[in-house]
Amino acid sequence: MTGVRPKKHLGQHFLTDKATAKRIADTLMLEGVDSLLEVGPGTGMLTGFLLEKGVPDFRVIEIDNESVEYLNSAYPELDIIKGDFLKYDLNANFESKVAIIGNFPFNISSQIFFKVLENRDKVSQLAGMIQKEVAERIVAGPGSKTYGILSVLLKYYYNIEYLFTVPPDVFKPRPKVEAAVIRMSRNDSTGPACDEKLLKRVVKATFNHRRKMIRNSIRSAFDIGEEQMNLFKLRPEQIDLDDFVNLTNWVEEVLNKK
Ligand code: SAH
Repeated sequence: MTGVRPKKHLGQHFLTDKATAKRIADTLMLEGVDSLLEVGPGTGMLTGFLLEKGVPDFRVIEIDNESVEYLNSAYPELDIIKGDFLKYDLNANFESKVAIIGNFPFNISSQIFFKVLENRDKVSQLAGMIQKEVAERIVAGPGSKTYGILSVLLKYYYNIEYLFTVPPDVFKPRPKVEAAVIRMSRNDSTGPACDEKLLKRVVKATFNHRRKMIRNSIRSAFDIGEEQMNLFKLRPEQIDLDDFVNLTNWVEEVLNKK
């Protein structure tokens, strides 16, 4: 036992099963990876297996003092950053691309993905564990109930795979939900063929009212909308990445004319 008490407000669910930890570490595609950052190492269950991978620049970032102290004694050679991953400046701290891995703190998993999105030219790959529900949301495509903001935005830049489901009984404390391991790797795309900030606003405005027709959400969010496109009669969960780009370009045109 490590003696570290799990803290709920930090999303701490420590893995107790070595085989699962190894399986997660093995999802990393090592080719071309020179820098690796583990988010939330906790008591190091995954860290041990990651050290064996021999990535030249391997660091871990952990917010919990007690875990950091434990890791310092258990792994004296480990490069430990004590701090908040959400505040850690990836561009300033990594010269070249970095892969990110972890049994992520479930309470901030969406924020982790938004951060990756912002740093997409730095983050070549992300692999790890999140709540199953969030994993499903990320991999979903149009027509699926869980298709949402992150599924749309991440797919412009990353190829995403749902790898396997993990039951609650391999964690301490047990989470209320199942977990899942996913992997995302950066594709060649330079991004959507439209103004990206506007795209984000369009995607958010429509998914904030996912049961409404796009027409209504766009009208109230941008104060426009007598003009019509066919897409406007659909709901956001029915349209794909290209449709969102077309919609964004249309909104931009109308806004410019106003
Ligand atoms: N990898 C460990 C712990 C997973 S629990 C294992 O598999 O057993 C999630 C870990 O993320 C906890 O150790 C928690 O303290 C840490 N954490 C929570 N929020 C964080 C943040 N913002 N930045 C870095 N680490 C964080």
